[in-house]
Amino acid sequence: MSRVAYVNGRYVPRRSAMVHIEDRGYQFADGAYEVCEVFRGALIDEKRHFERLAYSLGELQIVPPLCTGGLAIVVREIMARNKIENGFVYVQVTRGVAPRDHVFPRPAVRPSLVVTARQVNPEKGELQARNGVSVITTPDLRWKRADIKSISLLPNVLARQLARESGAYEAWLVDSSDMITEGAASNAWIVSENDTIVTRHLDHSILRGITRTTLIEIIAAQGLKLVERKFSLDEALTAREAFITGATALIMPVVRINGKKIGQGIPGPITLKLRAIFHDIAARST
Ligand code: PLP
Repeated sequence: MSRVAYVNGRYVPRRSAMVHIEDRGYQFADGAYEVCEVFRGALIDEKRHFERLAYSLGELQIVPPLCTGGLAIVVREIMARNKIENGFVYVQVTRGVAPRDHVFPRPAVRPSLVVTARQVNPEKGELQARNGVSVITTPDLRWKRADIKSISLLPNVLARQLARESGAYEAWLVDSSDMITEGAASNAWIVSENDTIVTRHLDHSILRGITRTTLIEIIAAQGLKLVERKFSLDEALTAREAFITGATALIMPVVRINGKKIGQGIPGPITLKLRAIFHDIAARST
C-alpha cells in the first residue's frame, strides 16, 4: 500500500512529499514535534500530546498552524489513509519558509505542518519487553531547554548511534554531576530499595514525557511509592529494577546498564506489572 503524508494543507504520496529548502526546520531545526502512539486503532493520550505540542510551540514563539480540532482531523485522516491499526503518528511544526536569516521572519510566515504515520508490529515490542533491553550511558550534551520537544536532536542522534554501536537499545544521558537526566528518546526510571520508584523531577533538563505523566497516575492508583528526584549512575547500577518510558518503547524493562546486570538481569516484576496495565488505563481516542 502506498503511504500518504500531510504537508502544508495537502495529502500527498509519501514518496513525493517535500518541504522547501528554505524551510526553517531544514535550515535551523527551528520547530517542534510530537510522536503519538496508535494502539488498536486508537490514539493514546492524544490530548496530552497536543497540549505538549502547544507548550513547545509557545516556548519557541511559533503560532500553531491549525487549531487543536483541525489537527485532530488531519491526524485521523492520516491514520485512515495509511490504515494504521498499531503504530505512530508523527506531527512536526516549523516556523515556516523564509530566506535564511537567524532572526524570525517579519512579517511572520505561515508555519509548516507535516503529519505522517507508520504501522508497527506490536509483537516486536512485546518480545523486547519479555527479555528486557540494555542501556549505555553517555554525557548529556543537549541544550538547557530539554523540556521543549524541539526537532533539534543532534545530541540525541549521536547518543542513540553510540547505543546502537554498543549493542544497546537506548543511551541514558548523564549530567555534569553524574546524575542521569533521561534517555536519548525516553524517560529513565529505577526501582530502589523498599520498591520505591524513582524518576528525575521535572525541570528544563528533561522532557515531560506523556508516558511518564500517565504512568505517574497509574503508580498512584496502584498504591505504589514514587519519588521524583535525581538519581546517579551508581544508584541505578545497584537498583532492583530499571526501565524507560516513551510513546514508542511504552514501559520497557532495562536489564543491563553499561553491561552490568540490574537486579537478576531479567525484567523486574514492578516494571512488567506497570507495562501490562498501561494500555488499560491510558486515555484512548478514536
Ligand atoms: N525524553 C525524550 C528526550 C524523548 O525524546 C522522549 C520521546 O520521544 C521521551 C522522553 C518520552 O516522551 P513520551 O512519553 O511523550 O514519548
